[in-house]
Amino acid sequence: MADHAPRPLAQSETCAALRAGETENTDALEAGRVLFAGESRFVAAAGERARIPPATAPEIAFAGRSNVGKSSLLNALTGRHALARVSTTPGRTRELIFFDLAGRLTLVDMPGYGYAKAPHRLAREWQGLMLAYLRGRANLRRVLLLLDARHAPKQADAAVMAILDSAAVTFQLVLTKSDALTEGDLAMRKDALVRLARAHKAAYPEVLATSSRSGGGIAELRAALALLAA
Ligand code: GDP
Repeated sequence: MADHAPRPLAQSETCAALRAGETENTDALEAGRVLFAGESRFVAAAGERARIPPATAPEIAFAGRSNVGKSSLLNALTGRHALARVSTTPGRTRELIFFDLAGRLTLVDMPGYGYAKAPHRLAREWQGLMLAYLRGRANLRRVLLLLDARHAPKQADAAVMAILDSAAVTFQLVLTKSDALTEGDLAMRKDALVRLARAHKAAYPEVLATSSRSGGGIAELRAALALLAA
């Protein structure tokens, strides 16, 4: 699986990250780089509560609408092209997929939700397994709720935020596909989401913008996750 391990950050990339103001701590960026340079491996796929593996390392779950760019983000974070592929094989789309990262962090790929036609019904279906997972998962440090930077949050996203609020699980809004917006539009989108996060009791107030395509925000997200793994 170690076919595309993250390369060391070039100095110019580190400077760009600092200018972006999302983290001012080069130590944190380095800790993130080192963590995600570690080996990642598939642990389990769980379509029902009984199959959820025992809690070991600190855990981060990735949630978002289908097509939000979740697989691409997981692959960009880990520098591997195939890490999240298992989740897209037939029959696996309704399962939680667990990956171990260097024995230090567990990454959980949650099923995509919110196909256009019936957001309410699908949010309910999603809710069953998700609540089974979220309740009492003591090692779950945070849910990253991915939102496509090109669109305002949809009804299904709001429903999932309400579920996370009621389960008292800290979640952080993470924009994907930030390369598709101008800098100005991205800043406006982030501001709007910071306001939205403030309105949710379980939301972490910082919003991160990422692009799997350009690599923007990936080092900062790795750094944030390394802090949570510590
Ligand atoms: P998932 O269904 O949430 O796992 O989404 P995927 O990772 O499969 O991506 C869905 C679509 O979004 C694909 O067509 C990707 O090429 C596209 N995509 C993913 N990440 C990015 C990104 O950073 N920028 C842009 N512009 N498109 C992206």
